[in-house]
Amino acid sequence: MKSGVMSDDLRRDPRQEWIARNRLHPDHQRVLAELGKGAASAEWLGPQGLMRKNPHRVGFIGPHGLKRIDRSGAQQAATASNARQRGAAADTRQSIDIETPAFLVAVVPDMSGGRLSSQDRDLLGLARQLADADPERPGAVLAVLFGEHKEDTLGEAGIDRLLHLEGDKFAGYAPEARLAALMAVERQWAPGHWLLPDSALGGADLGRRLAARIGERPATGVWQLNVNESADTDNAGSSQGWQCLARGAAGTRDIQRPLPRVVLALAECAEPVSETRHAARPVELSQALPETLGRIRDMGAVAVDPAGVALAEAEFILSAGNGVKDWEGYHRAAEMLQATKGASRVAVDDGFMPRDRQVGATGTWVTARVYVAVGISGAIQHLQGIQSCDKVVAINFDGGCDMVKRADLAVLGDSSQTLAALVALVERYRQQQQESRDAA
Ligand SMILES: Cc1cc2nc3c(=O)[nH]c(=O)nc-3n(C[C@H](O)[C@H](O)[C@H](O)COP(=O)(O)OP(=O)(O)OC[C@H]3O[C@@H](n4cnc5c(N)ncnc54)[C@H](O)[C@@H]3O)c2cc1C
Repeated sequence: MKSGVMSDDLRRDPRQEWIARNRLHPDHQRVLAELGKGAASAEWLGPQGLMRKNPHRVGFIGPHGLKRIDRSGAQQAATASNARQRGAAADTRQSIDIETPAFLVAVVPDMSGGRLSSQDRDLLGLARQLADADPERPGAVLAVLFGEHKEDTLGEAGIDRLLHLEGDKFAGYAPEARLAALMAVERQWAPGHWLLPDSALGGADLGRRLAARIGERPATGVWQLNVNESADTDNAGSSQGWQCLARGAAGTRDIQRPLPRVVLALAECAEPVSETRHAARPVELSQALPETLGRIRDMGAVAVDPAGVALAEAEFILSAGNGVKDWEGYHRAAEMLQATKGASRVAVDDGFMPRDRQVGATGTWVTARVYVAVGISGAIQHLQGIQSCDKVVAINFDGGCDMVKRADLAVLGDSSQTLAALVALVERYRQQQQESRDAA
C-alpha cells in the first residue's frame, strides 16, 4: 500500500471536475486552464491515459464537419472575467511608445456617449494594421476627439497620439467647426490616411465632408484591408500596396479598389486592439483655429419615445421575463428610466409583451450598451440574443441562474421590489436635480 503523500495515484477533485463540465460557471475557464483543458487546449490526456477532446472549444470542428461557434455569450463573459482577474493580478499587455513615427494614420472616432463605441475600436484596430504594417517604418495612430469624453482606455484601444479638442463650438452637430479642425490637422501633420466610422452617428457625414474638402475620392463601406503583394509596398504610409474591400451597390456587392487616403469603415472592419497598450500622448494644434461661418445651428436633440426605438438599435433595454410579477411596475420603471422594452419568449407567449419585443435566437439579436434582464433565467436561446451587449445587469431571485452568471452586475431579490426601489431612487435624484436648478 502506498502512503497518501508519496502516492503516484491521480487525485481527483469532484468539484473542480463539475465546474469544468459546467460551461456557465463563472470559474469555468479558470478551472479548465488549471486542469490543462483551457480554451487553448483542444486535447489533453485523461486519467485513463486516453486522449480527450474538448468539443466545446470555439473553432472545434464537430462530428458533422461544422465549426463550433459559441454564441451564448458565456465564453465571452468568462473570458472577460478572466481578463479582469488577469488585469488585477498582472497586466500582460505590451507597452508601445512610438517616438518618431514615419507617418500618421488619423482616426476620428464617433465617441457616442463620450466613450469609444465598438465600431470605433474596430476602426482603431484597422488603423493599427496600416501603422504597424512595416516594422522598419512604424507609423503612429493619431486620434482626434471632439468635446468631453469619459474614456480611460484610449491607449489600450491603440492610440499613439491624442488631439483632444474641447469647446462649445464642437458640441452637438457641428460639422463646420469639426471640419475646420480636421483641415488644421491635415495642414499640420498631413496624415497618410484618414479613417472615420461609416456610421450614422456622425462619422459618415464628417468623413464625406472631409474627403470633398481635401479633394479625395473616399472609400465608403469598407470592411477589409488586404496587402496587394504585386504592388510596390515601399511606402507603407501611402496607399500603395493596400487594397480595400467595400460594400457597394446598396450593400449587394463587394468592390475591391486600391486604398485611398480617406476611408470610411463599417463595424467589424478589423479586430480591436487587445494585446498592446499605446502611449496616447497628447498633441496640440500649432495654430489657432479659424472662425467658421456657422451656417448650421444645432437646435438640440429631439426627445424620442424609447418604446418606439427598434430593439436592434436600442442602447438601453429593460427586458422582462417570467419573473416579472408586477407588470404595471415594470412599465413604469421602463418609462422612468427611458429604457426600450424587451422581453423573454415566455413573457411574450404569455401575452404580457408584444412579439416584436422578444429578445433571443428566435426574436431580435440586440447590441445594447446596457441590458437589464428582469426575472429572466438566461436560457441559451435568450443568451444568444444578448451576446453583443456591453453590460448586462440581472435582477433575479436565483443567484445560481445562468443570467446571473452571464451578468456584469446582479441584484439578487424580488423583481417588483427591486424595480420599485429603482424608480424611487430615480425620482429622488431628479427631484434633487430640479431643486439645485431652481436654487441656482
Ligand atoms: C426553439 C426555441 C427557441 C427559443 N427562442 C427563444 C428566444 O428567442 N428568446 C427567449 O427568451 N426564449 C426563447 N426560447 C425559450 C427559452 O428556452 C426559455 O424558455 C425562456 O427564455 C425562458 O424565459 P424566462 O427566463 O422569462 O422564464 P423562466 O425560465 O421561467 O425564468 C424566470 C426567472 O425569473 C426568476 N424569478 C421568478 N420570480 C421572480 C421574482 N419575483 N423576482 C425575481 N426573479 C424571479 C426565476 O428565478 C427565473 O430565473 C426558445 C425555446 C426554444 C425551444
